[in-house]
Order: sequence, then C-alpha cells, then structure tokens
Amino acid sequence: MHRRISLPPGGEARCVRCRALLYRVGRPDANERALALALAACIVLIVANVFPIVGLEVKGVHNSATLFSAVQSLWEDKAQAVAVLVFVTTIFVPVAELAGLIWVLAALRFGIRNWGAVPVLHFIESVKPWGMVEVFMLGVMVSLVKLAHIATVEPGVALFSFAALMALIAAAAAVFDADAAWQQLEAPQ
Ligand SMILES: [Zn+2]
Repeated sequence: MHRRISLPPGGEARCVRCRALLYRVGRPDANERALALALAACIVLIVANVFPIVGLEVKGVHNSATLFSAVQSLWEDKAQAVAVLVFVTTIFVPVAELAGLIWVLAALRFGIRNWGAVPVLHFIESVKPWGMVEVFMLGVMVSLVKLAHIATVEPGVALFSFAALMALIAAAAAVFDADAAWQQLEAPQ
C-alpha cells in the first residue's frame, strides 16, 4: 500500500517495488481540454449520423445510406441480431460515452457536484469496451474496396466524419485526467 503524497508540477508517483506508474500531475487545464475535444467529437458525431456513409451507383441507379438507415435495413432483412449489435456499438455507446463525459466535465468545470457525476463516471467506464467505431470503420473500408469492382462507390461525408470522430474520442480519452476528476469529486465541500 502507498500513501498518497502531493507531487511537484510535472511529477509522477511510481510503485516502490515494480516502478509502475500510480498517478501523475497532469496539466491543470487537462479536463478543460478534454471538454473541448468531447464537444468537438459531439458535433462530428451528429454529422456522422446525419449524412450518408457511402453512395453506390449500380447501372445508373443511385443509392446512399446513413448509418441509421443501414441499421434499419439490416433489421428489415431479418438480421436483427446484427442490427442491434451495429446500433449498440456504433451509435448508442459512442453517444452515451460522449454525453457522459461532457456531463462530468461540465459538472467539474462549473463546480457543480450534485449532478450525479460519480455514477456517470462509473457508467462511462462500463460502456467503454462496447464502443467499436474503429472496428466498424475497418469493416466499411473492406466492403468498399470489395464493392468497387461491381459498383461506383462514393465515400460520403459521414465516412470522413467517423474517421475524425475516432481521432477525437481517442484524444479526449487521452487528455481526460480521471485522477484529477476523482480528486475534485471526492474533495470535501
Ligand atoms: Zn508495484
């Protein structure tokens, strides 16, 4: 067991036995930066869901699909399990994770602690493994390359938005200083 000590700016605390990183002093504005990145991700997420992911043209017939319409047609094609999986991993979890992160960061930013930030922080941790925008992107890329032989494929706005979303979610998660957040939440009123 280690007793928590306060560190100088830029310092990090390591285990005396195995040198594993226990905690470090992040930038004081880390969670404000995380909030900015999460808000940017939120905007990109809306764009990614409103615009088509891909447009296809086969023999003069043009067709384009948004993510949600893809989920709908999977459902109608009797692939309900796949439809639910796609919906949960590419729409529900990213939305829930981002909304939760923005909620907590906004609560910290404005110093309000009765907003249920603690359960929301636990909730974010529990849904995180189910967010699979990266896996989805990889799947879309592979199918586009395969489809290119039989149809004219036009990447849609949403495809690029998903790429940006991936980067922004990763950046927000990397910048987010969970340790500072917990300290701020647990500090006596
Ligand atoms: Zn250790």
